[in-house]
Amino acid sequence: MSPTDPLAPVERPDDSVLLSARGIRKSFGDNEVLRSIDLEVRRGEVVVLIGPSGSGKTTVLRALNGLETPGAGTIDFAGGPVIDFAAPVPKAQRYALRDRSAMVFQQHNLFPHMTVLQNVVEGPVRVQKVPKARAVAEASALLDRVGLAEKRDAYPFELSGGQQQRVGIVRALALKPQLLLFDEPTSALDPELVGEVLQVIKELADEGWTMVVVTHELSFARQAADEVLFMDGGVVVERGAPGTIFTNPTHERTRRFLDRIL
Ligand code: ADP
Repeated sequence: MSPTDPLAPVERPDDSVLLSARGIRKSFGDNEVLRSIDLEVRRGEVVVLIGPSGSGKTTVLRALNGLETPGAGTIDFAGGPVIDFAAPVPKAQRYALRDRSAMVFQQHNLFPHMTVLQNVVEGPVRVQKVPKARAVAEASALLDRVGLAEKRDAYPFELSGGQQQRVGIVRALALKPQLLLFDEPTSALDPELVGEVLQVIKELADEGWTMVVVTHELSFARQAADEVLFMDGGVVVERGAPGTIFTNPTHERTRRFLDRIL
């Protein structure tokens, strides 16, 4: 690749870092929702974002996934260039960012007119041009992996909310992303269905998937997170190991939030 190639990877001293975002800012009109966010994700690590509604957690995920374009800052994703948002970002770089991660949304957004299997193979076949037979075999194995093998020909409306969300997770996995992004994956579920979805996410974490998870499920964060970031008002107020953040937070704002939610 030539030095001017917008996708040319840069040399990094530490290849255990998968993603490094620095000084990420984002405004919607006059509303500055991210005020210089720094975030580093190492390979195999689970980073959990917590914080009150409106603090900017979803916007961080969307920026990492290329769905929002920050007004300033850099994102350095291993295997690619350092993307600098101070200047207009070439389309190829934005698409490359999008391809590296896959997002699981609050609502699964499955196509209602497609079977479970069709929903899962859609991305690999149409977007990534994976041969259909291979995509079907891989999708079947993943569905089996989350206990949904016998639902592959069912339609989304025939599944429980928890099953639908597990299909949503499989759909993200089928894209073979380097990073999984979960945006409150259980907040739209009835309480009795939350556990089965968190269990799948925990197993993926144990298998070594790298993930950034936005959640209000603090017991999940405590068990699964390597690092917890508490956000408020568009800044990371405090970050650290779950044992420290939950039992001995340094900042008053973190304490107040935890008191309210626990
Ligand atoms: P959280 O995930 O912590 O609840 P969000 O990142 O969703 O917070 O939102 C942070 C702020 O950004 C909120 O004030 C929200 O209203 C605003 N916001 C998010 N997306 C948009 C958008 N597309 N247009 C305008 N404002 C937005």
